[in-house]
Amino acid sequence: MVEGRYLEALQERGVRTTPQRALIWRVLAESGDHFTAQRVWETIKDRLPGIELSTVYRTLEVLQEAGLVADSRLPEGPRVFEARPKMHPHLVCEVCGGISHPEPEAGRRLFETLGAGSGGFEIRELHVVAKGVCAGCAEEAGG
Ligand SMILES: [Zn+2]
Ligand SMILES: [Zn+2]
Repeated sequence: MVEGRYLEALQERGVRTTPQRALIWRVLAESGDHFTAQRVWETIKDRLPGIELSTVYRTLEVLQEAGLVADSRLPEGPRVFEARPKMHPHLVCEVCGGISHPEPEAGRRLFETLGAGSGGFEIRELHVVAKGVCAGCAEEAGG
């Protein structure tokens, strides 16, 4: 069963395992993409007949508390969930709406710089969003 290693990851974090927790974690981890709760629900509803959107929300909260999933609120966009640690910057394309990430090293340096300059303030949560035009859209527009 493919869900096996996802169940293990949950157990390692002390999360009580259920089929929907393992499946939702797997969907996020395998795609590496940003999902709204609605999109998670649409992706799994055929495999877990009868599952409700509210259950998906609750499951995402549990995965978040376990540190497996991060949520981000993007400006003018929905709340999105992804299988990544908290606190990474987002690049949002104003043309296609695509969400991407800068290189992890660039994100790390950004947070380090801010942490060093915050006068002892302990940053626990930070949402950084850069808006602009992605490379693909810039190319399509003729550079
Ligand atoms: Zn992200
Ligand atoms: Zn774009």
